[in-house]
Amino acid sequence: MENIRFKALHMAMARPEREVHFPKEKASEYFGELTFNKSAMREYLTTEAFNQVMNSIEKGEKIDRKIADQVAAGLKAWAIKNGATHYTHWFLPLTGLTAEKHDAFVDPIEGGIGIENFRGSELTQQEPDASSFPSGGIRSTFEARGYTAWDPTSPAFIMDKTLCIPTVFVSYTGEALDYKTPLLKALYDIDKAAVDVCQLFDKSVTKVFGTLGWEQEYFLVDSALFIARPDLVLTGRTLFGHASAKDQQLEDHYFGTIPPRVIHFMQEFELEAHRLGIPVKTRHNEVAPNQFECAPVYEEVNLSIDHNQLLMDLMDKVAKRHDFTVLLHEKPYNHVNGSGKHNNWSLMTNTHENLLTPGKTDTSRLRFITFLVNTIKAVYEHGDLLRAMIASPANDHRLGANEAPPAIISVFIGEQLTELLNTIEKSKTAVKLDSHKHSDLLKNLPKIPEILLDNTDRNRTSPFAFTGNKFEFRAVGSSQSCAPAMITLNLIVADQLKKFKKDVDALLVKDVKKEEAILQVIRKYIRESKNILFEGNNYSEEWVKEAARRGLNNFISTPSAVKAMVSKKTIDLFERNNIFTERELHARHEIRLENYTKKIQIESRVLGDLASNHIIPIAIKYQNTLIENVKGLKQVLDLKTYGKLSQNQMDMITEISEHVSKIKTFVNEMIEARKVANKITDTEKKAFAYCDTVFPYFEKIRYHTDKLELLVDDEVWPLPKYRELLFIR
Ligand code: ADP
Ligand code: MG
Repeated sequence: MENIRFKALHMAMARPEREVHFPKEKASEYFGELTFNKSAMREYLTTEAFNQVMNSIEKGEKIDRKIADQVAAGLKAWAIKNGATHYTHWFLPLTGLTAEKHDAFVDPIEGGIGIENFRGSELTQQEPDASSFPSGGIRSTFEARGYTAWDPTSPAFIMDKTLCIPTVFVSYTGEALDYKTPLLKALYDIDKAAVDVCQLFDKSVTKVFGTLGWEQEYFLVDSALFIARPDLVLTGRTLFGHASAKDQQLEDHYFGTIPPRVIHFMQEFELEAHRLGIPVKTRHNEVAPNQFECAPVYEEVNLSIDHNQLLMDLMDKVAKRHDFTVLLHEKPYNHVNGSGKHNNWSLMTNTHENLLTPGKTDTSRLRFITFLVNTIKAVYEHGDLLRAMIASPANDHRLGANEAPPAIISVFIGEQLTELLNTIEKSKTAVKLDSHKHSDLLKNLPKIPEILLDNTDRNRTSPFAFTGNKFEFRAVGSSQSCAPAMITLNLIVADQLKKFKKDVDALLVKDVKKEEAILQVIRKYIRESKNILFEGNNYSEEWVKEAARRGLNNFISTPSAVKAMVSKKTIDLFERNNIFTERELHARHEIRLENYTKKIQIESRVLGDLASNHIIPIAIKYQNTLIENVKGLKQVLDLKTYGKLSQNQMDMITEISEHVSKIKTFVNEMIEARKVANKITDTEKKAFAYCDTVFPYFEKIRYHTDKLELLVDDEVWPLPKYRELLFIR
């Protein structure tokens, strides 16, 4: 039989160029054309309906039944005009993917005729069968009743001739079954809390929204090579593969010229993204070979998350047209960098001011310091929760592997801001409390340079870095939804801002001057949260030790990291802010653990199968060739020459036997470990069993298979090698 690897290589190298056809000259002419955006709404809605939808978007006001019917009619007309035949409620279940169930617009009526229907009730609510989505025991199958409800703040869009309506997904008992519901609550919370704090400085601020700009990293691999690697197909990552002689050591890929085949793919998915209103802007090569990044212009958090989710789907679809497969996995290949999704986050006011921009006036500088210090304090209080929310078996490979931030959460703010906070902490009250000149106090605040040095020379090893006018949360994984990270970050900062307001108010009633009250509280927070600030190299061994001395946790595996989801501190946080009940948190914790167990179980099975059915038979076949060769030598050579010349082959034969035997033993032991783990009924204990007793075999087995890859004749090796996966494009 033909070697599948060679067949795949042959296909990959014969790909024709596939140029992209742009429908119009300029992107501005098609940007957002597949979304029911403001201009489409103006055209297709009555003024009354348009105004209500706008009010709902801007102020969260409810849309009444009659208007919902009008909106549905307008939406239907627009969607059909743009080629849609079906509609679906589009939501973000706890799988971390997106879900949709399509219904046709057309309904039969009497006389064998069909008409297109779409009522207000179908726009606002649907009842997908919820029973097959993870719910962590909240909803047992017999009461599989959940409904989706329209989220007007994220515009409806058309994908694959289907009108997609962004929705929340909740159970009839009121629990959230998705990511969007808690996200919208957390965003509502930060709006309220941040406005209250802004009011101390500027009465014209009446709305604050979180902003998010994600940076999506990914790998591309030729689809034929992908299919020839069952481990990539089934687990998203390679479970075997010897390092390529050359990979990223010359650092020649980063920001290098993008290969033409890749450019064509990028152009097409950007085109499709733009038609869907996703503002993708930046593209470049990443550190590892065949690794790339794409980033949009930042948007309001909820919209930005929907757009990222949509983009991940889109990339996958468009890649197939170019015979590429997109690998979103956090660590598809050992020995080279994995992929992350930096979450750039800030807060923006209705007055178009970024609350994390240092500011030019005295008041805006104090406001900046307020938001900066409260964010630091929030991360200090709930760093473990942030770590928990980005935990996954795939991300475990990345965090702390000297290519991404470690699993220790700390905050980097740069030298200048560190100095600034130190000065504030040590400063004494600068004006007499009875002075009427508030501004004197502010004048004594150390000045903040408008352009922070660290903005250009920043610490790339920090998991949570201030980068001039925003924080960058770098520990989020490339395949993950930004939602858990963003729910947490916005919630903890909102909670912290509420506390801040309370602490300031408590001083104000004691007749402390406003600016002095604010500074007093800030001084206290700086003192309390200092431990979380770290400016050094996060990849170093010293930091691991130093962090331990500081009492900062370093959870290196998912089962231990996710414990923070159900700590007393977390439960209090979510309950006091009405985001989740204790029951919901336990359910979400359970889902994470189950997901961990299943993923490791699948990887373990694939690893065992491939080692036993692909690698060992090939190794033995090759060994037989060597044995035949040695036998032949014996026949044709005299004994002395034979003794000298056959030694190398004999050594290889023994070496292969040793590796094969080790693989066999370890695979058997791993299967036994799995059997033991599978009998455990407690979800958490089972996840730990997989982590501590099954997972360690992966490296042990891989060591020997990768050695075999170097020993066995290249002509018969069945799995595409790293040099092929990483360099063919
Ligand atoms: P890099 O980190 O790769 O150097 P940048 O820092 O320039 O790139 O930008 C990365 C992302 O940060 C982009 O998606 C950009 O839109 C986003 N960003 C910029 N300003 C803000 C902001 N105020 N809030 C949220 N995201 C922002
Ligand atoms: Mg970045």
